[in-house]
Amino acid sequence: MNAKTKVVVAGGGTAGWLTAFSLVTRLGTLLDITLVESDQIGTVGVGEATIPTMRAFHSLIGIDEKEFMAATQATFKLGIQFDNWGQQGDSYFHSFGEIGQRSWMAEFHEFWMEAKAQGFGGNLQDYCLELKAAKANKFSTFVGKKPVNFAYHMNATDYAAYLRKKSESAGVKRVEGRIEQIQNDETGNISSLTLKGGEQVFGDVFIDCTGFRGLLIGDNLDVEYEDWSHWLAADSAIAVQTQAVEAPRPYTQSIAHSAGWQWRIPLQNRVGNGIVYSSQFLSEDEARQTLLANLTGQTITEPRTLRFKTGRRKKAWHKNCIAIGLASGFLEPLESTSIHLVTTAILRLMKLFPFGGNTTMLAEQFNRETQLELETIRDFVILHYHQTQRNDSPFWDHYRTMQVPDSLVHRMAMFRENGYAWPDDVSLFRVDSWVQVMMGQGLMPKQHHGAGRVLPVEGLKQQMMALRNMIDKSVAQMSEHGDFIQTYCPAQNGR
Ligand SMILES: Cc1cc2nc3c(=O)[nH]c(=O)nc-3n(C[C@H](O)[C@H](O)[C@H](O)COP(=O)(O)OP(=O)(O)OC[C@H]3O[C@@H](n4cnc5c(N)ncnc54)[C@H](O)[C@@H]3O)c2cc1C
Repeated sequence: MNAKTKVVVAGGGTAGWLTAFSLVTRLGTLLDITLVESDQIGTVGVGEATIPTMRAFHSLIGIDEKEFMAATQATFKLGIQFDNWGQQGDSYFHSFGEIGQRSWMAEFHEFWMEAKAQGFGGNLQDYCLELKAAKANKFSTFVGKKPVNFAYHMNATDYAAYLRKKSESAGVKRVEGRIEQIQNDETGNISSLTLKGGEQVFGDVFIDCTGFRGLLIGDNLDVEYEDWSHWLAADSAIAVQTQAVEAPRPYTQSIAHSAGWQWRIPLQNRVGNGIVYSSQFLSEDEARQTLLANLTGQTITEPRTLRFKTGRRKKAWHKNCIAIGLASGFLEPLESTSIHLVTTAILRLMKLFPFGGNTTMLAEQFNRETQLELETIRDFVILHYHQTQRNDSPFWDHYRTMQVPDSLVHRMAMFRENGYAWPDDVSLFRVDSWVQVMMGQGLMPKQHHGAGRVLPVEGLKQQMMALRNMIDKSVAQMSEHGDFIQTYCPAQNGR
């Protein structure tokens, strides 16, 4: 019988514990997994909004939705409301739902544009169930037989603790201690970690989940970090928690300010808040004042500043080390994609796991896929900053006038000229996502596909009305979000 491959996970935040739990659940009979973490150092402590892909990932690794939600103070998330992004006073929604009904030839927004040209059709956002439910504070997992598309807001600390408990009972060994030294063999592979106090942890494969520090991939293996701050200038955040003063909304709020933006993430028992800004345009004091002046409840924690650099490791997998989570790169939290990237990295690792063979080729494939994925998300995030009419501050002037990647220039021009939008290369952001953000921030097409003109005008009108009526009826049947949570997944602790 072959000996088990020894996997050492360095770091016990969301990335570390999610990796350890996934590996033990799906490949546990082949692997011997140890996780090293330091209570003294702690985790980044933010990362509380997710996207719907998390649900499929959870079911793959056997996480029960109700149990997870009850353990993490979780609420449901149907999308993100963006305030003041296109212009001050604006508000639009990026919802997880489908907007209207597409045909094989044309997207729904193109039918809607034809309707507008004919003088009817209302608001594009009226054709999305998830969006209308969110605005009405309603929620259900299904409407009739139709599944609702949703994600979660959750307490990050509770989530790591929940995964730790499950991992340990499934056989992951946890070692408490600060990694102080890293040893390499003659080929450059990592052979062991030495902890404060001298204990050594040996392994065959090392997963770097040490957060922004990137102790193994960066400090030890010297893999360069590609800096994207010329596109995404934010380099700081201040996070603070507040008391809940209203029933939790089933969506995240993203509120743009004159130099940065603020998140509001409602959990069952409290609200997570923070401001993301660039130190080039705003001082820490000003950022803190802006955040504190725009909270809705009493603070229950001290504001905490975090520093980061947007970008990515040029190789997330190098030698026998795979970086997952913040150690592998960070965009910024605007579209809550970081935990999603942890899950896709884990899936990729499981598919390409180095059981033997040519591991250099496995690493190259891993790195290629990782790069493509990050670049796609990068373009989507940049779009929010760049497609704006705001000219009230040097911050917005910078973003409005900056050079953006060619891939994004092309996408925006195609939409502006022809109304054509397509899903991205990694199928993360659907056509509806791109359309909601582009139109939501004022990028309106000059033209649209002729499919809407194939129907008689009266036929188009009736179809659109029927869609809207069906959505309104469905929303009326849904529960209040807070009531749904109380019966489905009430929190286990009051934290
Ligand atoms: C401001 C901000 C907001 C965010 N919001 C979102 C969001 O809404 N949605 C989302 O998906 N993501 C978000 N993220 C990203 C998200 O927080 C992370 O992707 C996620 O928490 C994973 O972090 P991590 O596990 O990689 O790192 P960390 O949580 O930093 O964990 C690092 C681990 O490494 C350990 N460690 C480090 N050094 C040593 C050492 N020397 N010895 C031993 N152990 C060590 C630490 O103790 C810790 O356990 C946000 C990030 C920031 C900065």
